[in-house]
Amino acid sequence: MKYLDEYRDRRAAERYAKLLQALTRHPWTVMEVCGGQTHAIVRFGIDQLIPAQLSLVHGPGCPVCVTPLELIDRAIAVSRRPEVVFCSFGDMLRVPGSRGSLLEARAQGADIRIVYSPLDAVALARQLPDRQVVFFAVGFETTAPMTAMAAKQAQTLGLANFSMLVAHVLVPPAMEAILSSPSNKVQGFLAAGHVCTVAGFAEYGPLAAKYKAPIVVTGFEPLDIFQGLAMLVRQLERGTCAVQNQYARSARASGNQAAIALVREVFEPCDRQWRGIGPIAESGLRLRAAYASMDAEQRFQVEGVVAAEPKECLAGEVLRGLRKPHQCPAFGTLCTPDNPLGAPMVSSEGACAAYHRYHR
Ligand code: SF4
Repeated sequence: MKYLDEYRDRRAAERYAKLLQALTRHPWTVMEVCGGQTHAIVRFGIDQLIPAQLSLVHGPGCPVCVTPLELIDRAIAVSRRPEVVFCSFGDMLRVPGSRGSLLEARAQGADIRIVYSPLDAVALARQLPDRQVVFFAVGFETTAPMTAMAAKQAQTLGLANFSMLVAHVLVPPAMEAILSSPSNKVQGFLAAGHVCTVAGFAEYGPLAAKYKAPIVVTGFEPLDIFQGLAMLVRQLERGTCAVQNQYARSARASGNQAAIALVREVFEPCDRQWRGIGPIAESGLRLRAAYASMDAEQRFQVEGVVAAEPKECLAGEVLRGLRKPHQCPAFGTLCTPDNPLGAPMVSSEGACAAYHRYHR
């Protein structure tokens, strides 16, 4: 298969594994930011082929995992209102809130529908003028342009029954929060190639220089990850901290200018709470004043939401690279995909789900 088999070639992977053995002379801890990369690493056994001195920790790049618990509780409360049709990506339905999930709310009668695009929710609002259609807008820089497009389309159509519960987050502020933490162990990053394809990676340079941590923009196939690791380890061994682009077939420093302009037109940066991690300044997006009438938090005032994480869940430590999923005492016992305690065990991009699925 063109453009896939090339990146999964076993012999080339073995050559990269040998190269990494030769390059790695000191112990290093590096983080892959994206949950998709985490799944590729454990699915293809990359973590078992790299030198023991090279420790891969898993980052906060799973949008479902970092959506604040309080917002999930709020989403459930909004979805229970009789006039509401609540639209969400499927992954969000099983994520546990403080007292149940959206899936449980649906079983109890809430009108919750899975959509594959925010534009599907706009189409639903057109079809159902007597209902209030609410879209749960989660995700990173990759999904924000489509949400922005939905907001513009709903405004152009004059839809008064469409709104959004916005939980969009931005990757670079989260990387800075990890690097600036006193407990940080991360010495270099594999940055998420698809995020950089949309948003570019120009702002990574100052981050790499400030914290003396090399950053390699990296794709998602096994050879992408091996090559990204080789570029990163070369830098770590030499003591350099540049931003390099392994994913040159897709990502450019300037990103996709049309998508960036669209997001800037509809959203503005705001401080945002990250589930398990806490507040990170300027790490989220909120609707600008021209679109504020579509803000579901304002349209549906929900009182008395008090979010409480189960104390057994150590997702925050997993998402900051301080602990691996199997080092959580609840992993595979109290917490399984059928009975998840935290979002990383539910999401298709969650690190705990990856470890459980591929028996780490
Ligand atoms: S294994 Fe479960 S309880 Fe432990 S950190 Fe992961 S999601 Fe939380």
